[in-house]
Amino acid sequence: MKKHWYDYLWIFSAVYLLLGFFNILFAWLGLLCFFIPLIISICGGGKAYCNRYCGRGQLFELLGGKFGLSRQKDIPAWMRSKAFRYGFLSFFLIMFINMLWNTWLVASGASNLREIVTLLWTFKLPWHWAYHGTLFAPWVAQFSFGFYSVMLTSTVLGIVTMVLFKPRSWCVYCPMGTMTQMICKAKAGNLEKAK
Ligand code: SF4
Repeated sequence: MKKHWYDYLWIFSAVYLLLGFFNILFAWLGLLCFFIPLIISICGGGKAYCNRYCGRGQLFELLGGKFGLSRQKDIPAWMRSKAFRYGFLSFFLIMFINMLWNTWLVASGASNLREIVTLLWTFKLPWHWAYHGTLFAPWVAQFSFGFYSVMLTSTVLGIVTMVLFKPRSWCVYCPMGTMTQMICKAKAGNLEKAK
């Protein structure tokens, strides 16, 4: 099958994760993976991001499929349930708001910059080697540490799910996937009403 440029976006995802080990400020690039899927679905592109442009999904496919790192088992039914998917999305958003709050505390001078990456919302890993000081205010770096924590945590969860189940099992409960699905459903509902 003919390959397209977007079939190689997994390289972007892999390089993104690596860059976070050298300069944490590259974490800002991850916002692309937040806004692009939402913009595509809001503009009527449906799940095109998931189906075509998501480098992370491709990376799991590659590691679990081509490299054989997945057990290729079915994901349990409870993980597919609405309760789990929406529950995980809510938890994820609460933690995201908490990350923004921590950024605000540094921006307002109420807290000092913390050069740590928090894995799985629990484990605080020293990450000072990836911050070299910048012209920007400390909150810019605080956001980077927080956002990179989100990206690394979701990658780790995705890898564990990939190994235990099928390569793209993370996609079943990925918050971005759930949000774009909600947007598609809302748009389809509006279209129905308009008929
Ligand atoms: S569900 Fe998430 S990880 Fe999977 S393809 Fe969509 S955005 Fe990417």
